[in-house]
Amino acid sequence: MTKDYYKILDISEFSTTEEIKTAYRHLARKWHPDVAGNSPDVIAKFKEINEAYEILSDKNRKADYDTAKRFYSYAANGSQSKKNHENHNNAENPNNKKNFSWEDLFGKKEKKPKAPQKGDDIFSDVEISVFEAVSGTSKIINMLQTNICPNCKGRKFVNGNKCPYCNGKGESSTYKRFNVKIPAGIKDKSKIRLAGEGEKGKNGGANGDLYLTIHIKEPVNYKTDGLNILKTIAVAPHEAILGGNISVPTLKGNVSLKLAPNTRSGQKIRLAGCGIEQNNKVGDMIVTVEIQIPKSLSEEEINLYKRLQELAGDNIRERIE
Ligand SMILES: [Zn+2]
Repeated sequence: MTKDYYKILDISEFSTTEEIKTAYRHLARKWHPDVAGNSPDVIAKFKEINEAYEILSDKNRKADYDTAKRFYSYAANGSQSKKNHENHNNAENPNNKKNFSWEDLFGKKEKKPKAPQKGDDIFSDVEISVFEAVSGTSKIINMLQTNICPNCKGRKFVNGNKCPYCNGKGESSTYKRFNVKIPAGIKDKSKIRLAGEGEKGKNGGANGDLYLTIHIKEPVNYKTDGLNILKTIAVAPHEAILGGNISVPTLKGNVSLKLAPNTRSGQKIRLAGCGIEQNNKVGDMIVTVEIQIPKSLSEEEINLYKRLQELAGDNIRERIE
């Protein structure tokens, strides 16, 4: 016996119909892909729980299964072959599949098995940068989708043999690729809906939708303060003393920043209109100067610093500002 359905539902062989149902609802809630995530492991576990319930909730199929289970225990202990058990599996009616929607599991209302059911909605997340949020972007995302097996059309068997394409599951899970357009000015936690890209509807019901929640990630090299972008820029000692033009990357591309002579470390310079644009308002970029020592200095540079040391008349520690 490949699967112990009692073990899967964590019940005993003597459980009542009501106990089977309760155990199933508990596990199906716990392992529902909307709750537990739609990783292949979760989907496999969820399907296994459904499969166990399909058999054990059906009086006739449960009786067949119990007989086969007892026979198998006997065969495993004795000298019988496993042939009868395999025959039992093949005799499973592949079309007698019940479907459980979110409502069935979470108890809003019961539906007749054959009534059209809308597929479940799927929820996922997409992370974008502040700049992508401002200017708009497109993102490739891959979602695991479960479809009726194209080979056996969900019947699980082909010419009396287990369908080789889906391994007798009647369904196949594949990743579908979406190119998602994210509009300019999108806000954090906004949702984008892809109609009909959720779980497939059942018995002719409409497909569910795919909802993507946008997460705007705080950038590493920038901070934001409302519409303002705060950025620290490294400046070499000679640039700080002599001043000059340095190039600063902004949302509008590189902007030339004029550094005044004798610029201090920690000095803030405002680049007006270079912040985030939203609802016809635009913030500034506030650049903080940080004087940094170059990582490697040539011998000639060191000699020049030695010369500066000789020339320095001002003891910087005696200065009071
Ligand atoms: Zn198949």
